[in-house]
Amino acid sequence: MRVLIYGGSFNPPHLGHIRSARTAVEALAPDVTLLIPAAIPPHKALAAETPPWQRRFSMTALAAGEIPGGEASDIELCRSGPSYTSDTLRQLRERYPGAELVFLMGTDMLLTIESWHEPETVMGLASLAVFARETGREGDIAAQAVHLRERYGAVVYVLEGEPVTVSSTRIRAMLPERKGREYLSGGVYAYIIRHRLYGARPDLDWLRERAYACLKPTRVEHVRGAEAMARRLAKRWGADEADAAEAAILHDCTKKLGRDEQLRMCEKYGIIPDKWELENDRLLHAKTGAAFAADVFGAPDHIAAAIRWHTTGRPDMTALEQIVFLADAVEESRRPYPALELIRRTAFEDLDAAMELCARRTLVFLREQGEPIHPDTARTWEYYLKKLEDKGAAPVRWTGREI
Ligand code: ATP
Repeated sequence: MRVLIYGGSFNPPHLGHIRSARTAVEALAPDVTLLIPAAIPPHKALAAETPPWQRRFSMTALAAGEIPGGEASDIELCRSGPSYTSDTLRQLRERYPGAELVFLMGTDMLLTIESWHEPETVMGLASLAVFARETGREGDIAAQAVHLRERYGAVVYVLEGEPVTVSSTRIRAMLPERKGREYLSGGVYAYIIRHRLYGARPDLDWLRERAYACLKPTRVEHVRGAEAMARRLAKRWGADEADAAEAAILHDCTKKLGRDEQLRMCEKYGIIPDKWELENDRLLHAKTGAAFAADVFGAPDHIAAAIRWHTTGRPDMTALEQIVFLADAVEESRRPYPALELIRRTAFEDLDAAMELCARRTLVFLREQGEPIHPDTARTWEYYLKKLEDKGAAPVRWTGREI
C-alpha cells in the first residue's frame, strides 16, 4: 500500500499544488492521497490576512476534489503546537502500518528539508517525491536528491512535468485586484469570492457569466446596459467603476423568480416582506437580490445596499446607490418612456436632481396606472426635493404631468 501525503499552508491551494499532486498520483499510483493543511506551519508565519483554519480546510477539500482519489485531512489542524511533519508521519505510520508513506513537496521544500524539525525522522518514515515549482532548477533538485540519499538513506522520486510557476503569496496579492483566477480551480475561486477571503474582489468576466446564468435571456441586454451606464456614471462622479459594475451586474439576479420562489428566498434569508411587496412581488427582487448576491457572490455591504435600493430608492442614498438606481432607469436599451432622455442627461449633471426627477416620474407613472406606491419611493422623492430646495436649486422642469 502506498500513501501520498501533501502538506502545506494551502493558503489558498492553487493550480501548482493540483498539478504536482496529479502528476504524483499518475507517476506513483498511491492507494490514498492526503492533502494536509498545516495548523501552524513551522517554517513560515501565516500571513495576516489568513482566514480561519476551517476555511483553509474547506478550500483544501475543494482542491483535493480535483485530484483523483484526493482527500483533505485535518490531522494537523486537530493537533496543537507547530505542525511538524515528523509528528504527522508518526501518526500516519500508526494509521497505515506497513504502507509506504510518500511525502510530496516542491523544490523549495526539498532544498531546505535539512532545516526541518527532525529531518532524519521525516526521511526515515517517508519517501520523498518532488515536483519542480519552476524550470531551471533540475540540477539543484538532482544534486539534492543524491545528497539526501547518501546522507539519510532517503528515497527520492523526482517527478517530471510542466511546472505552474505561482505561489499562494502571489495569488493573495492578486485577488483584491480582481486577478489571480487563472491560478485557482473553479471551486476554490468561487469559494474565495463567496467568502471574500484575502480581500478578494471578483473578476468581472467570471461574475458576468455566473450572474447572467441567473437571468432570463431577454434580460441580459438590460443588465449589460445597466453595467455600461453605471460605469459611465461612476466615472463622471468619481465613484469606483468596478464596484458600480459589480452592483449593476448583480442588481437583477433574482428578478426572474416567481412569487413562490421569491417568498421561499425571503424565508431563507430572514426577509419579512412588507405589505406593498406582498401586493406586488416584483418589488421583492431588490431585497432577495441583495441577500442572494451577498450569500452566493459575497457582495460586500455597500454593493448589496446598491442592489437593495435599486427599485424604490431611499432617502440619503450613497453615490453608488444613486448610480445603480439611475443606471437601471436610464440605460441605453430601455424602451423609451416619458422623461427618459431628461433623466439620463440630468444624471450626468446633478445626481440629486436626477434622483428627484426619476422618483417623481415613477410616482406619476404608478398613479396613472393605479398601482400601489411603495412609501420608500415617495420618501425618496420628498427627500431629494427637499435637498434641492436646501441647495437653492430648482427641480428639473418636466412637462409631463405633475404630482
Ligand atoms: P506561500 O506563498 O504562502 O508560501 P506556497 O505557494 O509556497 O505558499 P504552500 O502551501 O506553502 O504553498 O506549499 C505546500 C507545498 O506545495 C510545498 O511543498 C511547496 O513546495 C509546494 N508548492 C507550492 N507551490 C507550488 C507550485 N507552484 N508547484 C509545485 N509545488 C508547489
